[in-house]
Amino acid sequence: MGKFDEYNIDLKGLQTDTSEFEFQLDSLFFTHIDAPEIQKGNIQAKLKVVRQSQAFELTFHCEGYVIVQCDRCLDEMEQSITAHDKLKVKFGDKYADEGDDIVIIPESEGAINVAWFLYEFIVLAVPMKHVHPVGKCNKSMTGQLRKHLVTSDEEMSDEETSAVEDGSVEEESNGQQPIDPRWEGLKEIIDNN
Ligand SMILES: [Zn+2]
Repeated sequence: MGKFDEYNIDLKGLQTDTSEFEFQLDSLFFTHIDAPEIQKGNIQAKLKVVRQSQAFELTFHCEGYVIVQCDRCLDEMEQSITAHDKLKVKFGDKYADEGDDIVIIPESEGAINVAWFLYEFIVLAVPMKHVHPVGKCNKSMTGQLRKHLVTSDEEMSDEETSAVEDGSVEEESNGQQPIDPRWEGLKEIIDNN
């Protein structure tokens, strides 16, 4: 049996106009998906499939938590997740993403695997900014980072400061840029203590 067989929904073979499915997405699921954003978590996912005249309407509801890195102290943290998403599936000649949450699947197969859709819905439900509740951050780490931030602010010239203010310099926290190697080093030192 393949890793994602249980997420394969045989639309053609559905016996009723409305069908419901449940999935427990634990850390093994995220390990199997093997994508960078989320590697651990525990999510209860429900899927309702309604057969319409020309399509199938899939309604997903995900609830639980994933483990992500805290923006403030870089330690792992639990981020609670609630996601509600819809997908419309139609039969056609070949796979196609029509946009507006409409997906075409080959009529000859008549089935859709929802594992990757579930993963994407969960990733999209993670807020841009995620930090521990007040006082729950790794104290040694925040202390070190605060020291580092104060130092680099002082070093910053007036030109750089105004560039940041008018938005021409991108923030480090936008997730696109690699972590400052000095921070990586810091975290390693702290982890090894
Ligand atoms: Zn934290």
